Parts: sequence; structure tokens; C-alpha cells
Amino acid sequence: MNEFGTTTAKFYRHSGRAPILGLILIGLAGFIAVPILGLIYGVLIRVIPFIYINVFIVIGYAYAVGFVLSSVAKYGKVRNMVLLGLAAFFFGVLADYVGWVSWLAVVAGDPTFLIEFFFPMDILYFITVIAEEGAWTISGTTPTGGFLYFIWFIEACMVIGGSTYLTVTSLSETPFCEDSDAWADKKSQVGAFAPLKNPAQFKQAVTQGNFSAFNELKPARPEDMHFTTLQLYECVQCRNFYVLNVNDVTVTINNKGKADTKTRSVLSNLIVTPHQLASLRRLAEPPPAPAAA
Ligand SMILES: [Zn+2]
Repeated sequence: MNEFGTTTAKFYRHSGRAPILGLILIGLAGFIAVPILGLIYGVLIRVIPFIYINVFIVIGYAYAVGFVLSSVAKYGKVRNMVLLGLAAFFFGVLADYVGWVSWLAVVAGDPTFLIEFFFPMDILYFITVIAEEGAWTISGTTPTGGFLYFIWFIEACMVIGGSTYLTVTSLSETPFCEDSDAWADKKSQVGAFAPLKNPAQFKQAVTQGNFSAFNELKPARPEDMHFTTLQLYECVQCRNFYVLNVNDVTVTINNKGKADTKTRSVLSNLIVTPHQLASLRRLAEPPPAPAAA
């Protein structure tokens, strides 16, 4: 019995659509949330004198901006990752800038300094003044000049790059069901299987439409540390749109006794029919008896 015929493999790609309402929402959320988050960020960076904690605040800032932008982009059904990336980059730059204005206002000890937000050339001038004098001291040294600019450059890369990356990746991997006009974001695992003998060959076969390659999959044993997983995205509106990712997963125990999971993608964004999915689910069931099928 061969449950998978040879068909044409279809792979999911974002349609690139960007509803105007979604773009307006991103703009609104960005211009409201980024200044608020930036004010908090500048104050925290200035009043918390521990450089290691500051690193986490920078990362947290990028996460917060990325979270806000990706949430509204998801709500607004934006599936144009280039536009989303550009918007996120723009708000990342704004986030870094607002962070500077807020930080300088705390240094100046004067909330009215915030009006300087509208005078970027002044802000640049203040930054050069601070760079000459140094802004903080670590282990008895006060970084100035080029070294300080380098640190600020790293900080800007983390804020701008981090918020852009986090915004885009949170939506780039989630398929969108165009028929239902909804994200197919219900994620589940079809099963864990013994590792594929030749992942590259498997990928090539499936890409050419030879779905019988899936018949190679046998349920993993519970003690296995290396296996193949089938990860599924499902549209709960129509229950007729399924996108499958095949991953090669290796679990190792590190020297602290904790499990490290390494996931490598074998195949991604394969569109499967409900019928094919039912067959895949059967593969995940343990074999009934040694008798041949
Ligand atoms: Zn659907």
C-alpha cells in the first residue's frame, strides 16, 4: 500500500500583500509605543550603573519594540516582509534616537530638554561633547572618543538590527491562509521519527513531488536523542490549509547536565492536503503487529 502518490510539490510563500489598514496600524503603534518605550529606556540606561544589566536592557528594548510592531503587523495581516522590514528598521532608528534624547535629558537633569527631540543636529552636537568627556566609568576607566563611539555603534546595531530582526522573523515563518484571510498559526507536531538516512535526498525527492519518500519515516523510540520531526502550521478557520516543516533534531546533554537541542531544517513550507496529513499522522503511530502490510 502506497499512501502517497506522485504529485506536484507546492511550497508556501507569503503573498506579499500589505493591507493599508495594517500599514496604518504599524505607523500608529510605532509612533506611539516607540517614544514611550524610548523614554523608559533612556532613563533605565542612565540610572542603572551596572554595564552588564545595561546590556540586558538594550536587548529588552529591541524585544519590546519588535513585539509591538510584530503584534500590530500580525493583527493588520501584513505579509509583505520587505515593507515590514523597512518599517521595523525605520522605527528601530527612531527607537535608538529617542533613547538618546531621553538619556541626554536625564544627564541634563531637565525634562524640558526632551523638546530637543525636534532638533537632531543639537542632539548630535551633545553626543560629540559627551564623547570627549566620557559618559560612565567601568573598572576605573572612563571610555571616551573612538572607543565610546564604538560601544554606541554596537548599542545602535542591537537596537535597530534587533527590533528589525525580531519583527520580521516573528511573521516570516508563520503561513497565511489566503482563502480564509487569516494566519495559519496553530502550531503542532505531527510526530517524532527515526532520523532520515539521507536528508538531502529526501528533500530532493519530496521537492520533485515524490511524496512516497515520507514512507521512510518510522516512529522514533523514546530513548532516541536524534530524530526527525514534522512540524505543522494549520489554519483553524478552514481546516483545509496545512504547511509542513521537516526538521532534523539532535539533543545533546552538555557538561552542566542540561539538554541542548539543535534543530536543522530539512524541508520547509511544504503545503500538504488534509489527505496527505492523515497519511502522515498514520506514519507516526506505532506499527500494529510484525505482520507485513
Ligand atoms: Zn484557511
